[in-house]
Amino acid sequence: MTGLSDSFQRPINYLRISVTDRCNLRCMYCMPSDGVSLMPHKDILSYEEIYTVVSVAAELGLDKVRLTGGEPLARLGLPRLIQMLAHIDTINDIALTTNGLLLNRYAAELKQAGLQRVNVSLDTLKQDKFELITRRNNNLSDVLAGIETARSVGLNPVKINMVVMAGINDDELLDFATKTIDEGWHVRFIELMLPVGVSTTAAQLVSVSNMRKRLKPLGELEPCLPSVGNGPAKYFRFPRAAGTIGFIAPVSEHFCFRCNRLRLTSDGKLRPCLLAEDEIDLRQPLRNGVSIDDLKKLIEEAVARKPLNHHLDEGYIPKDRPFSQVGG
Ligand code: SAM
Repeated sequence: MTGLSDSFQRPINYLRISVTDRCNLRCMYCMPSDGVSLMPHKDILSYEEIYTVVSVAAELGLDKVRLTGGEPLARLGLPRLIQMLAHIDTINDIALTTNGLLLNRYAAELKQAGLQRVNVSLDTLKQDKFELITRRNNNLSDVLAGIETARSVGLNPVKINMVVMAGINDDELLDFATKTIDEGWHVRFIELMLPVGVSTTAAQLVSVSNMRKRLKPLGELEPCLPSVGNGPAKYFRFPRAAGTIGFIAPVSEHFCFRCNRLRLTSDGKLRPCLLAEDEIDLRQPLRNGVSIDDLKKLIEEAVARKPLNHHLDEGYIPKDRPFSQVGG
């Protein structure tokens, strides 16, 4: 087996799977305030269909999956899917991205099912801000409890993803960074991207270089070497900190040249790039009894159609789906 690589010789070994378009939050940067129209349940891939796609992609060389959404824990029986995927021999990394609200309840079960790691999206440590950003009246303490439970059951490293927005939560950069020193948190600061139809504006973008300047009062950031993985973040730590700080700069410093991923939307479209509208439908072929060889060809076609890079820096944003439907 030689593995998949695209027309720019990038190895492709990672599939991000959106298991649902439903979400229990309405984050201001991700969804319009009145939500988005939801897909009928029949349009959403079953766990068996997702399993088929992953097992065939695994035969082609894919070895890493991440479950996302929508909110993946809002879909019933997620541990069952994880258990199914964990049985595919060559899949050696199964991770989850969640808003953490239901993590306290499910962390142990997820770990037992075969989940290895979790990323928790958390943009503030203040209850009032939490409600403002997520537009729901949930308890921040539930997310914090979920993070602690995930760490204690061994879903490590738990990474905390914060989308930094000027005038909204950028005053908390130092608070999050302090958690890497005092509590060993692994925090990643993400530049705001701007899909249409959400309530954030270009003026709220805080660049990674600006974030770094604002962390200076805590000391000099030291690069973590060797650089961790081939994901989008660059990692650092403060002297004596057990935790790390990652920066993700999709806008000011895109990382497309290292992109190793495909995305599967909850309605079964294989998407070569988060930030381009191109998609290949797998659902209909799956429901028409596609052969394994033909499914492989569709996956290979998606890989071949990966663009060299996105065009966010030129203001281009795909207009077909909000992030909540592609799977951020
Ligand atoms: N519900 C899960 C969660 O909250 O982690 C998974 C899906 S959510 C779309 C995943 C993540 O996508 C968000 O937390 C955020 O980090 C990222 N995201 C969504 N919209 C974004 C935007 N406009 N700019 C930057 N990141 C965004």
